[in-house]
Amino acid sequence: MENEQLDLTGIFGEDVFDERTMQQRLPKKAYEALKNTIENGTELDPATADTIAHEMKEWAMERGATHYTHWFQPLTGVTAEKHDSFITAPKEDGTILMRLSGKELIKGEPDASSFPSGGLRATFEARGYTIWDSASPAFVRHDEGGATLCIPTAFCSYTGEALDQKTPLLRSMEAIDRESIRLLRLLGNKTSKRVTPYVGAEQEYFIIDRANYLKRMDLIFTGRTLFGAMPPKGQELDDHYFGTLRPRIASFMHDVNVELWKLGVPAKTQHNEVAPAQHELAPIYEKVNVAVDHNQLIMQTLKRVATRHGLRCLLHEKPFEGVNGSGKHNNWSLMTDDGINLLDPGKTPHENIQFLLVLTCILKAVDTHADLLCESASDVGNDRRLGGNEAPPAIISVFLGEQLEDVIEQLVSTGQVNRSKSGGKLATGVSYLNDISKDATDRNRTSPFAFTGNKFEFRMVGSRDSIAAPNVVLNTIVAEAFREAADVIEAAGPEKRQEAVHDLIRQYASDHQRIIFNGNGYSPSWVTEAKRRGLPIISSMVDAIPALTTDRAVKLFETFGVFTKKELTSRMEVKYETYSKDINIEARTMLELASKQLIPAIIACMKRLAESAVAVEQCGIPATVQEERLKELNTCLSEARTAMKRLEQETLAAEKNPAGRTQAVMFRDRVVPAMDELRRPIDRAEMIVDKDLWPVPSYADLMFEV
Ligand code: ADP
Ligand code: MG
Repeated sequence: MENEQLDLTGIFGEDVFDERTMQQRLPKKAYEALKNTIENGTELDPATADTIAHEMKEWAMERGATHYTHWFQPLTGVTAEKHDSFITAPKEDGTILMRLSGKELIKGEPDASSFPSGGLRATFEARGYTIWDSASPAFVRHDEGGATLCIPTAFCSYTGEALDQKTPLLRSMEAIDRESIRLLRLLGNKTSKRVTPYVGAEQEYFIIDRANYLKRMDLIFTGRTLFGAMPPKGQELDDHYFGTLRPRIASFMHDVNVELWKLGVPAKTQHNEVAPAQHELAPIYEKVNVAVDHNQLIMQTLKRVATRHGLRCLLHEKPFEGVNGSGKHNNWSLMTDDGINLLDPGKTPHENIQFLLVLTCILKAVDTHADLLCESASDVGNDRRLGGNEAPPAIISVFLGEQLEDVIEQLVSTGQVNRSKSGGKLATGVSYLNDISKDATDRNRTSPFAFTGNKFEFRMVGSRDSIAAPNVVLNTIVAEAFREAADVIEAAGPEKRQEAVHDLIRQYASDHQRIIFNGNGYSPSWVTEAKRRGLPIISSMVDAIPALTTDRAVKLFETFGVFTKKELTSRMEVKYETYSKDINIEARTMLELASKQLIPAIIACMKRLAESAVAVEQCGIPATVQEERLKELNTCLSEARTAMKRLEQETLAAEKNPAGRTQAVMFRDRVVPAMDELRRPIDRAEMIVDKDLWPVPSYADLMFEV
């Protein structure tokens, strides 16, 4: 491919109805009304909505769009859309008009009774509404089906319950905004008007050859390999990590970037990851609601462009046993509208105190609600990734780095950092800040929740999941900590305010020091230590789900209007059901793959060996090797047969239960172990069976043939 000049500034955002475009295309009055809606939440009047819809449609049609869709994020973790064309009913003479009304822009009613609602809607009361989220820009997506105007929306039931990921996210953004501003005012900030969470989500994924992908029903049905012996070479040499991109991958990534830039997604960093065939893409951080949308666009674009390149993108958390899985690092910070990052240590002692209060509030929030954070990152695939020797363990802890940990230590033991500051000595604070900037490169890859200079990086999130849920939790638990701090500071009165702030910092630091862990999170001794500290260890999705509906969680979410108890219960039910369904599909796929493809291959190989043994012995030579191999394969075969019977029984037994916790527990405790048991003898057999007889591509084929 020739290096033709790419007009980056020209293409960036060309398919987005963004601020710039709105300003150009909308009449001044309509533009201002819309800005007012986005910034202050005022409702749009119908005439203005019509004007905006019309301009949006004209703009989209210039980009080739024939259809529009309300683009929403139901609880499936992926996005949903229903397309309508712009055409109106033909007139007498057969001509048609192209139209998008204000009403159609603002409100949609997909017949969406089949989306998971966890009992919030029975099918006979299936109404659900999609409502335009004007704060996330609309865009035109080009794909094999032509061009479509996508209008980001929230999705709610007839009675107003959230049926999606977006609605609670927007609610949690309002909560953290309110409480942050309140706290800032108490700390003397008079200028900032808004505080918004900013997020940059690093996306890990695997790329394999599409032809190989299509030969494996396990990848097609479940997104991961259910069988597969380890190749002679895995990731032990670390030679893939940050290695030079292979040409096919480089060309794929180039196209991904261009598509994303057109959609206004600021794709920034790309590199090879640790495992063979594993890669990462990171965009520049954005407001969290936009970052959530953009992460969905990143996942969709990776998949679509891969197909076009004869490749397949695997977003599963653990596509291959024995090498690293994929996650999503959720980098989170809080920013004011006038450019202050509340997680930036800052340069003046005043900000320093503010930073220490914010930091200790976050420690408190994470320690108090560790179970909710775990839950927000739990999913079926992550059960296989977390706690392996490669990913954060299933214990929430916070990594602060040496310098900050030392500050906390001082605060707890002597309170010195506080004293020196209130005594007006800048030195302590400033020198510690300088140290921080120096140490920002210091990393701890084993921590699930790490402070990285001016942001927190939550590393547990699964690679396939929406990043909405973890950010809903982060926003809300920190809002709660801010509110509680603000209550105390307010109660102290203006004279004692500074003292109250100092006391709070010290108190939070000492009450929640147990959540700080700077050591190796992969080491088994950490589990023992975490137990001693009383930190929750939640090692499966099924164990994580109950966190959603504890009294503590219900109180938290209801206080901030993020979820009602009913919504939490529905989410709990959806998650149990999702877990059971996913494992059920895996079990059924395994049975089918084993009985129709892999066991026949073992038998074919045994036949070949037996024939060879006869032929060899006819020449008067003992067929020792053939016999040995035959015996080994026979053992594998009979073990596989027993395991298949067991898996079949356990799956049937679990399927008989109604959806819910009991069923999910059965799938986890009985079906999953039975699956692992079936895998073992078949993986062993794969090492013995002739390559030409093995009916599916091997791990080596999948990971090294790109
Ligand atoms: P790493 O060293 O972990 O790769 P980077 O600096 O490359 O860290 O950033 C990783 C991600 O974090 C990127 O998406 C980046 O835009 C995002 N990020 C950087 N600063 C912030 C911030 N203040 N708030 C939120 N995200 C941020
Ligand atoms: Mg990172």
